[in-house]
Amino acid sequence: MENSAALIASDTPPARVNLLGMPRARMEEFMVALGEKPYRAQQLFKWIYHQGADSFGQMTDISRALRERLAQCAEVRAPEVAEEHISADGTRKWLVRVTGGSCVETVFIPEDGRGTLCVSSQVGCALDCSFCSTGKQGFQRDLTAAEIIGQVWIAARSFGLPKRGGQRSITNVVMMGMGEPLLNFDNVVAAMDLMMDDFAYGISKRRVTLSTAGVVPALERLAAVSEASLAISLHAPNDALRDQLVPVNRRYPIASLLDAARRYMDAQTDSKRVITVEYTLLKGVNDSVELARELAALLRGYPCKINLIPFNPFPQSSYERPSRNAVSRFWNVLTEAGHRVTVRTTRGEDIDAACGQLVGQVQDRTRRSARHRAAHAALACDRAQGVRA
Ligand code: SAH
Repeated sequence: MENSAALIASDTPPARVNLLGMPRARMEEFMVALGEKPYRAQQLFKWIYHQGADSFGQMTDISRALRERLAQCAEVRAPEVAEEHISADGTRKWLVRVTGGSCVETVFIPEDGRGTLCVSSQVGCALDCSFCSTGKQGFQRDLTAAEIIGQVWIAARSFGLPKRGGQRSITNVVMMGMGEPLLNFDNVVAAMDLMMDDFAYGISKRRVTLSTAGVVPALERLAAVSEASLAISLHAPNDALRDQLVPVNRRYPIASLLDAARRYMDAQTDSKRVITVEYTLLKGVNDSVELARELAALLRGYPCKINLIPFNPFPQSSYERPSRNAVSRFWNVLTEAGHRVTVRTTRGEDIDAACGQLVGQVQDRTRRSARHRAAHAALACDRAQGVRA
C-alpha cells in the first residue's frame, strides 16, 4: 500500500486505481493508506456493487472531502457495452468491449424463478475444443478481474437496482462464456470471490459455477482458494475420443480430471454438492447408445449430475446436432443407470447466444498456424501448472 500512498502524495497527476474488481481486503488497505477506517471499503463496495455506482459524487454517505480525494486517485471503470441484443425468448447478450478494443460476450438466461448470467474469462481461448466457436478464433489475452466482474456489473445495472429483499434478476453465475477460466486463475478467483461476497453480489457458492475443460493442475490448486461450484466438460467417456474433441485431454486424461474434480468437491465444507458433468452431444460422434452405456459405467458412483448439451451449430462447424430421439435415447440409458441427467435447452439462438456460439471480436494473436496454437495451449497449461503454484 505504500504505492497508493506515494501516488497520492505525488505532485504529478496520479494514475487512477480501478476499484472495480479490487478484492475487499485490498480495498481496506487502500482506505487505510488514505488515512480512513477500513470499513469505508464496505461502504464503497455497497455503492459499486449493490447500487451500480461509477462516480464518487453519488456516494452520499461518504464525506465530500473523501469523495474528492477518491476522485483524484481512484475510479470505478467497467468495460464498455458495444452492443446489447435481446432474444425473442428473453435471453440477453452483451458484446462487451475490453481494453485494447477486442470484445467478449456475456449472456443472461432468464428461467422460471432464476436468472443465469454466463460470463467470459478470456478474449478467445487457447484450448481449441473441436466443436467450440470461441476456440476457432484462437487466444488473445486473459481478462482482468475488473473485466470479469464488470460483466456482472453491466448486467446487474441494466436490470435496474436489486430491490432490498426483492427478487434479484441474477441468481446464478456460470463461468461458461468465452475462455478457459482455469487458465486465468487469479483473476477468475478474485472475480468469483466478489460474486459470492455479501458486500458485493452475495450470490450463494452453490450458484456460482466454474466450468473447465480440464486443466488439472489448476483445478488441484483451486480447492485451497475457492468455494465455487464446479462443472467439468467431459464430452466423451474414453480418452481416445476425448483426445479428438478436447485436445487438453492428451495432457490431462479423463481419470486425472475426474479424480481432481472429486478431490475439489471433497475439500468443500458443503458435502451435499455434486459436480456437474457437461456432455455436448455431437451427431454420429459421441451420441450413440454404446457411448451412453460407457459413460454411465464410467460415472457409476461418482458424485455428479450430468448435463447434456445438444450441439449448437455455428458457421464453419462440421458437426451437427443430434435428433431429439437420439438425445432422449442417450438420456434414457443414463437415467436408467441411476444418474441424474438434465438436457440443456438451447436459448437465445436468434441472437447467437447459445453455448459454444460466443465469438466476440477477437484480435487473435495465436492464429498464425495450428502448430503455433497447439504450442501456445501447451504453454498456457504449463503456466497453470507451474508459475503460479
Ligand atoms: N472453457 C470452459 C467453458 C466453456 S463453455 C469449459 O470448457 O468448460 C461451456 C460449455 O459449452 C462447455 O462444456 C463447452 O464444451 C460447451 N460447448 C462449447 N461449444 C459448444 C457448442 N457449439 N455446442 C454445445 N456446447 C458447446
